[in-house]
Amino acid sequence: MHDRRSLIEDRITRVLTERLRPAVHRPVADLTVGAWHVGGGRGEPVAPAQALRAHYEAFPIGAAWGPAWGTTWFHLTGTVPPADDAGPHEVVVDLGWAPHSSGFQAEGLAYRPDGSVVKGLNPMNGWIPVEPGNTIDLYVEAAANPLLLQAHPFLPTELGEKSSAGDRPLYRLARAQLCVRDTAVWELVADLDVLDGLMRELPAQDGRRTELLLGMGRALDRLDLADVSGTAGAAATELAPLLARRAGGTGHRISAVGHAHIDSAWLWPVRETVRKVARTVANVTHLLDEHPQLVYAMSSAQQYEWLEEHRPEVFERLAQHVAAGRFVPTGGMWVESDTNMVGGEAMVRQFLLGQRYFREKFGITCREVWLPDSFGYSAALPQIVRQAGCPHFLTQKISWNQQNVFPHHTFRWEGIDGTRVFTHFPPVDTYTAELTGRELAHAATNFRDKGATDVSLVPFGYGDGGGGPTREMLQRAARTGDLAGSPRVTIEAPADFFARAEADYPDAPVWVGELYLELHRGTYTSQARTKEGNRRCEHLLREAELWATTAAVRGLADYPVEQLGRLWKVVLLQQFHDILPGSSIAWVHREAADNYAAAEAELEELITGRLALLAGHGDDEIVVNATPFEVSGVPPLGAATVPAAGTAVGTAADRAVRVERAGGTLVLTSDVLQVTIDERGLVTALVDLAGGRDVIPEGTAANLLQLHQDFPNKWDAWDLDEFYRNTVRDLTDVDDLQVAVDADGAAVVTVRRVFGASTATQTMTLRPGARQLDCAIEVEWHERETVLKVGLPVDVHATEAAYETQFGHLRRPTHTNTSWDAARFEVCAHRFVHLAEPGFGVAVVNSATYGHEVTRHESPGGGTFSTVRLSLLRAPRFPDPQTDQGRHRRRYALVVAPDVLDAVRAGYRINLPERRITGAPVEPLVLLGGGTAAVEAVKPAEDGSGDVIVRLYEPRGARTAVTIQPTFAVREVVQVDLLEDQVEPDGLDTRDGSITVRLRPFQLLSLRLRR
Ligand SMILES: [Zn+2]
Repeated sequence: MHDRRSLIEDRITRVLTERLRPAVHRPVADLTVGAWHVGGGRGEPVAPAQALRAHYEAFPIGAAWGPAWGTTWFHLTGTVPPADDAGPHEVVVDLGWAPHSSGFQAEGLAYRPDGSVVKGLNPMNGWIPVEPGNTIDLYVEAAANPLLLQAHPFLPTELGEKSSAGDRPLYRLARAQLCVRDTAVWELVADLDVLDGLMRELPAQDGRRTELLLGMGRALDRLDLADVSGTAGAAATELAPLLARRAGGTGHRISAVGHAHIDSAWLWPVRETVRKVARTVANVTHLLDEHPQLVYAMSSAQQYEWLEEHRPEVFERLAQHVAAGRFVPTGGMWVESDTNMVGGEAMVRQFLLGQRYFREKFGITCREVWLPDSFGYSAALPQIVRQAGCPHFLTQKISWNQQNVFPHHTFRWEGIDGTRVFTHFPPVDTYTAELTGRELAHAATNFRDKGATDVSLVPFGYGDGGGGPTREMLQRAARTGDLAGSPRVTIEAPADFFARAEADYPDAPVWVGELYLELHRGTYTSQARTKEGNRRCEHLLREAELWATTAAVRGLADYPVEQLGRLWKVVLLQQFHDILPGSSIAWVHREAADNYAAAEAELEELITGRLALLAGHGDDEIVVNATPFEVSGVPPLGAATVPAAGTAVGTAADRAVRVERAGGTLVLTSDVLQVTIDERGLVTALVDLAGGRDVIPEGTAANLLQLHQDFPNKWDAWDLDEFYRNTVRDLTDVDDLQVAVDADGAAVVTVRRVFGASTATQTMTLRPGARQLDCAIEVEWHERETVLKVGLPVDVHATEAAYETQFGHLRRPTHTNTSWDAARFEVCAHRFVHLAEPGFGVAVVNSATYGHEVTRHESPGGGTFSTVRLSLLRAPRFPDPQTDQGRHRRRYALVVAPDVLDAVRAGYRINLPERRITGAPVEPLVLLGGGTAAVEAVKPAEDGSGDVIVRLYEPRGARTAVTIQPTFAVREVVQVDLLEDQVEPDGLDTRDGSITVRLRPFQLLSLRLRR
């Protein structure tokens, strides 16, 4: 046979594009359109009731509407003629969409005159159902969300902030028509779409491919292009045998899950996500009503709560489908958060609040984590998610790796403590699939575990304002359920997939450690104020809960349930995977900063008030210690008078740090350290007087600020591309250098440097008795596309560094032996990085920095040393052109830390500074004895019982046993999971009347103290 492949394939494409798809909706009449522009076009959204009462003016088709972020209400009126044999009548609206993006632009929500919601309108989903013979009386709330990403990728834009976005209308109303949806044409389009998509993925030598090609050619021969409607049925008859050929029980099986990935904020503000969720859920519930085969999964309890509050009628429809098992809450989290930077207790609360919401509203506990899009997954997660009721984990983001291909799609993932969780990466490599032939084939061929197992999951549906799954996607699913040559598609819930996948792959391989994303490494640093607010609020929440619980148990004040619940939700929402990572528009980060500031003020007031109640009326100065370790003789989780001598607090003059000058060099000597600072303001020696060892490698200098050009190839706020290292400017010029000894006897060196358009003031403080040099920096930052780092070389020969993560730390190599090691040139750490040789070690701790790197260098005298660098600031220009401009403050410290526990303590301490108040000592609610464990939270049980939850973990990576002694009446102590459900004791022993907890390395354990 002659090869006519391209001839027929091109024919299929042209007929589908130019004749068949446009013939699906046959126009009947234009509708009459009126418009009301909220606030003249720039106002904030209003309640539907207000809009429905407004005065509408005639609005011609083709007219412009919508300055960025404005809302226009359209009123559509007309009459529906009697039923048409060809198919149902529908209104078709085109708000002026660009043809290249399924979401990310204008959207609408259609209402009836009584304010009830019909469905959403999105670029690929612009139809509204109507009843034959009725009048049309519809309102469309159209949001002029600007298209920021696809049209001009990564160019700086002022559209991301309302005040700078301008008044220019962005859209033209292109269509508002009554149409007939021609069922025969619509079905023929689906037949051709599926068979054509399948054909193009089959090998050229496959007989099935030729069969499909010739069959589709015959079908087009039957189609009269002058009478598409009248001949579509005949064409479909030619295709029927091709669609009837079965796969015969073989091949890849796909669990298709209806979904819409809706970022809780990103290229739009949080307030717009509230509406995006309403539009998408309105679409989905309508589709669920019409198509009994659809199952839809939605994550993020926050998004359910928004809907419940703002569109209760849509929420009611959602709840009905949840009860029927077809609208499936998934993920178990408050939002799809970042997991690199979120602190331990906050990570717990993402699940605790999320799962509690789903239980309270629907009686459901999610069994799978759903994080398709977060930027890497911490090695602490397996333990956390298992204890939060989730034995299953889903993401696909690691397919975005720049360099290394992850070896599995289905595997067991093992975390720092050894907990394993059954994990799946959908091999379709997207979370917004359309179920096209190309996607289905890619899922099957890309699947790296084939041969061992043959099932994978495909999330399908347009996200981020695309409206979710469409009926066209359901047509594809229906045709590929059992079709020769195609993977077999079944629509089902994530839980059904995981049950099948786990049973099908009992010996799935194991991956140990983090799921590092080899991309988006700049997200540990971008939008520094957002990072700072998160870190600060996480620690203030810890303090507030601790002292409010202590006060409640002591009968001094009721626990502020509503207030702390509300503040936790602020912090949890802003841990969403485009807010905390710094990848949202200016509007989002401005609001985040305001929200953090308000939360900090409330928390400070709460802490101060509760401490005043606890300390009572005494006149003694007492020191408050909210850390889990003793500080200056003050017990953890309590407050005590300052011991008279032998500690760093309450320094006598004779313990003051001595300052000597030698030329331009300063030598600061305390009772434990000697620090040398040269004329450039750099630390050239830091000697631990006990052992005589210098932390700073010979010939190097620490606390060196360095600037690098930072212009990644794309994804500006997200990416730090490795070539940034190729150019560097050391900031060694000094504009001013001062030294002083303060009232506490601490030596304080202040160095001011001017560079570019910016100024940095560095402070180095050596306190009596402290085995650390405290550093602070205040920057007036006006650079562009530049990253600011601070380098701290340390004379430690170590192949690994320990980086703090949730409830423990992760060790990563300091070398670049493999491509996997080399790709981790920028990594996330929480409060500390620690490097050690046996008997000696150094930590760098910080108050609000997440981006870190450790490099390895040859020492002149033999061996190697390491350089720790903190990423302090960036200045990318997309999506926020003003990212990080202005004033910033950061604190960090170089700590002599022989054991990793020293790093843990110092990390807590810099984030939870002691408070000094007057009054009487405050006894901790629980006293710990024996080994070493860190109490991460003391809080009331969520169930309102008055029970106290104490959460602790083993922080060194060792085994330990601790005794716990409550200082209040406790009826019973039981072990609970993170959802506060009682579990079989795994470490807790109360047999002899005392409470002993035995912990494995990094084990996380929660206790319920029943009162
Ligand atoms: Zn996302």
